Amino acid sequence: MDLSFTAEDNTFRKEVIEFINQNLDADLKQKMAENRNSYLPKEDHVRWQKSLNEKGWLVPDWPVEHGGPGWTTTQKYIFETEMANHNAPGVIPFGSKMCAPVIMKFGNDEQKKKFLPRMLSNEDWWCQGYSEPGSGSDLASLQMKAEDKGDHFVCNGSKIWTTLAQYADWIFCLVRTSNEGVRQQGISFLLIDMKTPGITVDPIQTLDLPVKGAQEVNQVFFDDVIVPKENLVGEMNKGWTYAKYLLEFERGNAYAGRLKRGAEKIRNIATKELDGGEPVINDPSFRSKLAKLEVSIQALEMTELRILSKLSSGQNMGPESSLMKCRGTDLYQEVVEMALEAVGTYSMPFIPLRAGQNEDVLGSDYSSGVAPRYFNARKVSIYGGSNEIQRNIMAKLILGL
Ligand SMILES: Cc1cc2nc3c(=O)[nH]c(=O)nc-3n(C[C@H](O)[C@H](O)[C@H](O)COP(=O)(O)OP(=O)(O)OC[C@H]3O[C@@H](n4cnc5c(N)ncnc54)[C@H](O)[C@@H]3O)c2cc1C
Repeated sequence: MDLSFTAEDNTFRKEVIEFINQNLDADLKQKMAENRNSYLPKEDHVRWQKSLNEKGWLVPDWPVEHGGPGWTTTQKYIFETEMANHNAPGVIPFGSKMCAPVIMKFGNDEQKKKFLPRMLSNEDWWCQGYSEPGSGSDLASLQMKAEDKGDHFVCNGSKIWTTLAQYADWIFCLVRTSNEGVRQQGISFLLIDMKTPGITVDPIQTLDLPVKGAQEVNQVFFDDVIVPKENLVGEMNKGWTYAKYLLEFERGNAYAGRLKRGAEKIRNIATKELDGGEPVINDPSFRSKLAKLEVSIQALEMTELRILSKLSSGQNMGPESSLMKCRGTDLYQEVVEMALEAVGTYSMPFIPLRAGQNEDVLGSDYSSGVAPRYFNARKVSIYGGSNEIQRNIMAKLILGL
């Protein structure tokens, strides 16, 4: 395993840093510094994603023929790491990172021509319609029905926890097209225009929201929604295969860069905040917990580099994507918990702020974002397949249990 970067890699890293310095404007920097990545308005995401697209860097994983930059795996890793180091907003994954690979592999030419360029240009915002009330971990039990009416389907049912559906132009949905045979065999993969009559998006209020009017998850209802047959991806009743393919892309993320930044932030806060007149960082138990966390993050970084080395030599990710998802999200929850501990009681005033009161912010300017981030991070061990489910996968595929 070779973990060193070449001279070309280091030149590329400089180019990425230069791009970020030129394009991450003061407004976005400020919002990101306040931990508002999950609550940026649509226009901020679109502005950032457009600048990436103009540079040809919006879709690092796409093949060159569809507009990808043709990077090596190492370049992709450097890009991700520097984006994290500079606290740049993450690209919203539902279109370009999740639905696009499915369209590229299983969609027809018309679908590729219609949808892929609009993902690149940010004309279409996508959301993911997998989970339903009662069908999350046991996804194959999903009930949203798509009745075959010849040249179209009529869809009825609902999807839940649909992230940022309030902004979406399109939703990719797993729907039930048959009740014959085993449950997985009756599922199809449909692309649905969110403007179609019969679709309602209801917000779900969550505990974390720090900005008035901010919202992350929704329930989406479908009442006699007509979807043309041309929006079916691949074959009818083969959607389970496409759904699993998509999940590989949802889980295979790099975590170490953002975790390292989080740990640095904790160190900064703990140096400034006082507990009994002493900086929090002087507390030996706090210091030892933070050191342990930093070592765990370094270990994860080594694992990421090991996987990178494997991918660079042409091998597939495999069940390591479950390992990365579990370890990366467990450590992320530790990071936000320690930030909460470092800020102490100053983390609490975000609640009156959310209710829209005109109180002055208490504590330092970094304090108000800490509690929302802590509450928001409860989700990371749940979405994309809960960590318990990932451990089941590892037990089966890695340990052979
Ligand atoms: C903030 C957020 C955003 C999300 N965004 C989206 C989205 O955009 N689109 C979308 O489709 N979905 C989304 N989800 C849904 C997410 O994928 C599901 O919540 C997740 O798969 C778990 O399903 P569930 O909520 O039905 O919980 P359940 O499946 O009911 O699980 C409840 C608990 O039981 C455990 N459990 C269940 N089965 C097993 C088992 N076999 N072995 C061990 N433990 C088990 C689970 O780990 C969990 O702890 C989002 C979820 C959250 C929280």
